Amino acid sequence: RSDIALRDVNFAYVPDEPVLRHLNLTIPVSGYTSIVGPSGAGKSTVLQLLMRFSDPQSGAVMYDGHDIKEAQYASLLRQVGVVFQDSILFHSSIRDNIRVGNPDATQSEILEAARAAGIHETIVGFREGYDTLVSNYGDSLSGGQRQRIALARALLRNPRILFLDEATSALDPDTERAVNETIRALGRRMSIVSVTHRLANAAMSDRIIVLRQGTVAETGTHEQLLQQD
Ligand code: ADP
Ligand code: ADP
Repeated sequence: RSDIALRDVNFAYVPDEPVLRHLNLTIPVSGYTSIVGPSGAGKSTVLQLLMRFSDPQSGAVMYDGHDIKEAQYASLLRQVGVVFQDSILFHSSIRDNIRVGNPDATQSEILEAARAAGIHETIVGFREGYDTLVSNYGDSLSGGQRQRIALARALLRNPRILFLDEATSALDPDTERAVNETIRALGRRMSIVSVTHRLANAAMSDRIIVLRQGTVAETGTHEQLLQQD
């Protein structure tokens, strides 16, 4: 089996203010899964737990049926990549910003990650090639390009699972659509777990988990969930 799961998870940042309540969810490590729900539902908290950035007060975080304990944490982190809403880029070249994902990566691996993230095809006037990535500063680019650089950074880790936390939510609609297309293509090569407050952003996912007030309210495909509303 290959899945990640939360089993009867309770989580609170502040005592007596539960954010996740007896939460059970299973995400197959294949295809594209979206976790959708209103702001404050606990979506980012779920991602944090799945990536083991924090621990539940009770319950378990399972990978492939095993309770992930501290000892396995490092090997778990090597299997995942993550992109947040506003990616932090350094005042340095695109290449350097991508390389953060894996300091040992070769030039061709960096170039391949940049291609897969769609960096070359969307920078007007850019020549295809490594020098483009070296001579242009990452932090001077548009929001869409910055998110693509963050995507390339995550891809450089060769992740088994790519986690996205509102990765396109700060972009204008056209740019968001374009970056979503790139993400959809990536979903054929790796498993994607994406958190978003907008159901439309989950249209290309294979399955959707709707989270409300820290529990799973519904699951289904985009079509199924649209019919219910
Ligand atoms: P979502 O991603 O669905 O918007 P979050 O997981 O970010 O939801 O937050 C769920 C709840 O936890 C919200 O009420 C939020 O205010 C609260 N929360 C999130 N992070 C913290 C924090 N670091 N400290 C205290 N409360 C937090
Ligand atoms: P570092 O930042 O670690 O010093 P370098 O800038 O020296 O790394 O570049 C790392 C590798 O990329 C080297 O093999 C270098 O020859 C190659 N390289 C650097 N700049 C370019 C470029 N503009 N075009 C092609 N290859 C480059």
